[in-house]
Amino acid sequence: MNQVRYQLSLLDPVSHYYQVRIEFTPWSSAPIELQLPAWIPGSYMIRDFARNVQRFQATDSQGALTWQQLDKQQWQVNHQGLPVRIEYLVYAFDLSVRANYFNDEVAVINPAACCLEVIGAAQLELELIAPSAYPDWRVATGLSRDANTAFASFGLYHAEHYQYLIDCPLLCGNLCIESFMLDAVPHHVVVVGAYQPDMTRFSQELQRICAAQRDVFGELPVDLSEYWFLTWAVDKGYGGLEHRNSTLLLCNRFDLPNPQAPGQQTDDYITLLGLCSHEYFHTWWVKRARPKALLHYQLNAEQYTDQLWLYEGFTSYFDDYALVKTGLITIEKYLQLLSETISRVTRASSQMHQSLAASSHNAWTMYYKQDENAQNAVVNYYAKGSLVALCLDAQLQQQGLSLTGFMQACWQAYGRTELGSDWDTLAAILLKYSQNPALVQELWHWVYQSGSLPLEHAIQTLGLSLCWRAAINQQDVSGNKTFVVEPRAFGAWYEFKTDGMAVSAVAEQSPAKQAGIMAGDLIIAVDGLRMTEQNWREVNLRKARDATIELHLFRQQRLLTVTLQPAPAASTVAILTADPAQAPSLQRWLGIGA
Ligand SMILES: [Zn+2]
Repeated sequence: MNQVRYQLSLLDPVSHYYQVRIEFTPWSSAPIELQLPAWIPGSYMIRDFARNVQRFQATDSQGALTWQQLDKQQWQVNHQGLPVRIEYLVYAFDLSVRANYFNDEVAVINPAACCLEVIGAAQLELELIAPSAYPDWRVATGLSRDANTAFASFGLYHAEHYQYLIDCPLLCGNLCIESFMLDAVPHHVVVVGAYQPDMTRFSQELQRICAAQRDVFGELPVDLSEYWFLTWAVDKGYGGLEHRNSTLLLCNRFDLPNPQAPGQQTDDYITLLGLCSHEYFHTWWVKRARPKALLHYQLNAEQYTDQLWLYEGFTSYFDDYALVKTGLITIEKYLQLLSETISRVTRASSQMHQSLAASSHNAWTMYYKQDENAQNAVVNYYAKGSLVALCLDAQLQQQGLSLTGFMQACWQAYGRTELGSDWDTLAAILLKYSQNPALVQELWHWVYQSGSLPLEHAIQTLGLSLCWRAAINQQDVSGNKTFVVEPRAFGAWYEFKTDGMAVSAVAEQSPAKQAGIMAGDLIIAVDGLRMTEQNWREVNLRKARDATIELHLFRQQRLLTVTLQPAPAASTVAILTADPAQAPSLQRWLGIGA
């Protein structure tokens, strides 16, 4: 077999270096080719991990071998048939779930970002060397443990092929670990960096979520022999990345439950549970059921799919849905989260210009590289995709079916067999399941054309009522509010700094745009008063409805004056409530009483 052994040492936490050594006996006389991915599956952006590879060298027993770097991420090594050793350092200081990070508290290892692929290799071994400075550190990973490596220990791990190796991040540090079984499959809940987390509660609540997601598909994937929640808590961070039998999560130190407050359900903890729910759902929906275009990952350049609305959007629908179904959040809280999504999608004019399919296709350069014009140009396929799921669920519920039923049909048709999906696959499954050609056509319109979704109808079908109120500002997305004075529209995203209001973005059809305000402007005065949060609020409340407001601003170093024409605030904040007259519909949808 074309066996390759990686040895990874946690070399220097102060300078943040890993040392990687790759050893193998060449299986052909041709020069050896090595490469590192440019991106990691699940995160659709070119990241050029090879930029952190340093001090590359190649040797055999007779000395140094000649080599050349072919491009930004490929190397070629000449050899004499003798066992070869490649060595290099990897700089590990990226505070995200996608690469490597190493300091005196934690080591996060993504093989995709540090283990060069030896082209043609088959059986891979990864030996992780214990750091002498940290004798208490343990290791958590979905990689296969060698028979001589104890649970959660440094030592030897195995991967049958490179795609599996890079699908298994490793988390090292003073780990808290709790485990539970689901359908005889061990699930390990690992946390590092959190301050006094209630691990028992976290693990028990994750178990309920995992069971709910298993019920969506009807079974755990047959090849799932264990699952790891790798939770890395930091001072400020958020994110998750799905893997075949694990997920690496980034959260804040105090997001986990407080053992001194057993009944307390903070918003931060609900957000974390939602993230865990989301990533676990991906175990089926992305890691196994996935677009045909991504069946074979090509990691040296962008790989295009127009189905991220389906895989990220539907996952976003089922993440919070599992929280309410399991009773971890109340119906009121769930409706608040849903209304925030509806408000955000409705407010962004981008949905009138870009389809979900186009947003998916261009994720590499648009969704993942958003700038100040994103609200006007880039559709959020997570948020709007989740509302497509909601609309589809409503239509199916109306026929006595459900989105869960459709998910199971997809799982059975192409998910568990990993055959991949394209539009025709989905259309055929939906037609067979619903017997409703008009619904297939409708779904096509929601996805392949720009425009708003039939939310009012969906909401009503599900036993809810939807009303709208005026938005105080662009950040205002939920909650009941009554106004003594109706708010005025402004239409810019901003924050108050000590020297004024800093504008970060401007909606394309808004009083701010009409007044000529641009992203980057610093507004320093409102109607002759210094621009402060209070002055801005009071001027808006006290000025006659048809009176203009004068603003002074700096654009770079130029002082300008603009006039804001009044306009009533748009009603873009969605308010969702359970409709008591429709209790059976709600009961059917959520499976719980209103
Ligand atoms: Zn996701």
